[in-house]
Amino acid sequence: MPSMKSGKNTSERSDSSSRRSFLRQMGGALAITPLAVTTQGKSRAETRTTYKIREGTPDETTVYKIDSGKPGPTGVVVGGLHGIEEAGYIAANDVTEWSIDQGSLVVIPEANQTAIKQDTYSNDNGNLNRKFPPGKEPTTPLAREIWNVVAGSDPDIVLSLHSSKGIYRSDVGPDGVGQAIYPTIAHGAKEDAVMTAKYMNRYHLDQSLPDHYRFRRGNLIDADRPLLTHKVAGDLHEVGFIVEVTRYGTSTDLRVRWTLNIIRHLLRRHGINRVYR
Ligand SMILES: [Zn+2]
Repeated sequence: MPSMKSGKNTSERSDSSSRRSFLRQMGGALAITPLAVTTQGKSRAETRTTYKIREGTPDETTVYKIDSGKPGPTGVVVGGLHGIEEAGYIAANDVTEWSIDQGSLVVIPEANQTAIKQDTYSNDNGNLNRKFPPGKEPTTPLAREIWNVVAGSDPDIVLSLHSSKGIYRSDVGPDGVGQAIYPTIAHGAKEDAVMTAKYMNRYHLDQSLPDHYRFRRGNLIDADRPLLTHKVAGDLHEVGFIVEVTRYGTSTDLRVRWTLNIIRHLLRRHGINRVYR
C-alpha cells in the first residue's frame, strides 16, 4: 500500500519509561483486555491471538496477532533473531501489548529461542539471519516457519529489530551498523527511514550525546543477501526495515526506548497508529 506521508506526524507521543513501569505494575492486565472499537456505527472488539511455531522443539516460540477490529494495513515485527540483541526482543515483547487504531500487527518477539536462552548471537544452526535466501526456501526449519508467518501475513511493512556493537560509518568505538534504519528498495521505504531517523534525532536523542549517536538511513536493502529483510525486498517487494541501535556506551533501557519509538514512527507512516486506552 502507498505510504501515508503527510498530516500523520502531528500527534507525537513518546514511549516513556513511566508508561512502561505503569504497565509492569499492572502486570500487563490492561493491555490484554479485549476492548470495543467503534467502526461506522458498528462495534467490533479488538482481538489478540497467539500460537506457537516449531512447537515441541527447542526453537518453539510464540507468534502474537493483534487485530484492531478495523480493516487496515498489516505490520509484522520480528525481534530476537540474534540472541544477544535483547533491546529488540524486549521492545518486540512490549509491542505485543499495544493497541492500534486500524489494521493488524503480527509479532514474533523472540524469533531465536535457543540463542536467546544461551545469550549467544547464533544458535546451533549458525546465524539465523542468514537463512532467508531471496527466491528460495529458507534453509532451516525455524527460518521456514518464521518466513511462513511473515509472508502469510501479507504484510505492508516488516520490521526486523537488532542492535550492533558499534556505530555505522564512524571511527568511534568498534565497527558496527548501529544507529541506522536500513530500508528495502520498495517504494517509499527510503523516505520512511530518512524521516524516522530525523524524528529520532529531534525528539529522542539527548542533546548531551555526541554526534556519532545520531540516527541515519542505512544503505538500501536489495535481494542480494540471505537476510530476512532482503527476502522481504526480493520476494514480497514490500517495505521493510532493519532497525539497528548501538550497544556502544548505551544502556539496555535506552536502546529499548529508541527501538520502540522507531517502531511506532515507522508503523505510523504506514497508517498503523499506536493508541493508548
Ligand atoms: Zn542482529
